[in-house]
Amino acid sequence: MNFAIVGAGFTGAVLAQELAKAGHTIEVFESRNHIAGNCYSQRDEQTGVMIHNYGPHIFHTDNEEVWNYVNQFTEFMPYINRVKTTSQGQVFSLPINLHTINQYFNKTLNPIEAKTFIQSIADTTIEEPQSFEEQAMKFVGKNLYEAFFKGYTIKQWGVSPTELPASILKRLPVRFNYDDNYFNHKYQGMPKEGYTPIVEALMSHDNIQVHLNTGFNADQTKDFDHVFYTGPIDAWFNYEEGRLGYRTLDFVREDHQDDYQGCAVMNYGDQDVPYTRISEHKHFAPWETHEQTVIFKEYSRECTESDIPYYPIRLVNEKAMLNTYIEKAKAQTKVSFLGRLGTYRYLDMDVTIAEALDASQKTFKSIAGKADIPAFFVDPA
Ligand code: FAD
Ligand code: UDP
Repeated sequence: MNFAIVGAGFTGAVLAQELAKAGHTIEVFESRNHIAGNCYSQRDEQTGVMIHNYGPHIFHTDNEEVWNYVNQFTEFMPYINRVKTTSQGQVFSLPINLHTINQYFNKTLNPIEAKTFIQSIADTTIEEPQSFEEQAMKFVGKNLYEAFFKGYTIKQWGVSPTELPASILKRLPVRFNYDDNYFNHKYQGMPKEGYTPIVEALMSHDNIQVHLNTGFNADQTKDFDHVFYTGPIDAWFNYEEGRLGYRTLDFVREDHQDDYQGCAVMNYGDQDVPYTRISEHKHFAPWETHEQTVIFKEYSRECTESDIPYYPIRLVNEKAMLNTYIEKAKAQTKVSFLGRLGTYRYLDMDVTIAEALDASQKTFKSIAGKADIPAFFVDPA
């Protein structure tokens, strides 16, 4: 069949690879001047440092199939993400672990003592935390919440943590040992030459044609048997129900000599520091050496029409609007909506890849059964 894939991020690239391998003809349309979507990375001409242009990306997963899949397309180097945070005039270790607790409270607790101590300061009256704030108060109590989460979260999301869902904080562990690995996943690594070559390899197939600098709109659907759309779901419908809310990011670059901050990511927990974090990209490739260094201060703000949408907000208003768009999407027969923008969800790369693999399998089944290819392969509600 003759398919259009809109968007050359991980979702589009994996789908293109799987459909092309099965003998279909694919045209990929990408409005930017490069492939790889928000995972795009590029070696800086001036310093030689590998830059993650749309913010730092660390590959981490428990999904062995996905880990084996990406390792077919590039060489991964061992990399463990260790994040620090500056708060109230001191530097602490994240995610909150025994070192953080002992340093913050000026104690020398062992794991069992620390657990008992945190339970004594946590708000145990909260049974089912509904908001981000309640979740934090229940798990770490007021002091640690205010030092590490409150200011950062207000800067990141632009709303009070009382309005945000508890699920955002559930992404972060609290540990009663000295393990400062930011992620709990079994596999973690960094592609030796960045993410762009993975996407390049995924899309190198005789059946795949890529059009850069080429936007795609709903009117072009008639030229294809089916369209897999990974752009924003509201954009497909010309925003006729309104715009779904996103946060965008501004990355402000500075160049320095030697080593600027001694680690890849330094968060800033205080609300009066305007940026949320500083990433120093050469530390994401500890196997390389560079005399100069490049850092990015990361500022979060409301996403306007001309900005890149980064984080879907998904507050109550957005969810109601999303449901209307989902109904409209389900009424279409020749378009599937996928990826972080097509389904308006925060997705890590591994989930994106797993969902694209699953979508290709479901597509093959639909074709074999002569059924319509579904509008969604996962429930985005
Ligand atoms: P995208 O990468 O957004 O690709 C969609 C593409 O579609 C874009 O290139 C866009 O230009 C194109 N497009 C849209 N509309 C059209 C149109 N009409 N016509 C043509 N082209 C169009 N994940 C991790 O696993 N680890 C991390 O450490 C991590 N860090 C992150 C940090 C930040 C700041 C952010 C925002 C995300 C992070 N992620 C991370 C998530 C990761 O970026 C996503 O999982 C991944 O980018 C999703 O891929 P995608 O293909 O669905 O979407
Ligand atoms: N968070 C925080 N302080 C930190 C790090 C994270 O308050 O130092 C909160 C913030 O609200 C963030 C959420 O925890 O959105 C999830 O953190 P994660 O590091 O997963 O954020 P991401 O890398 O996705 O921006």
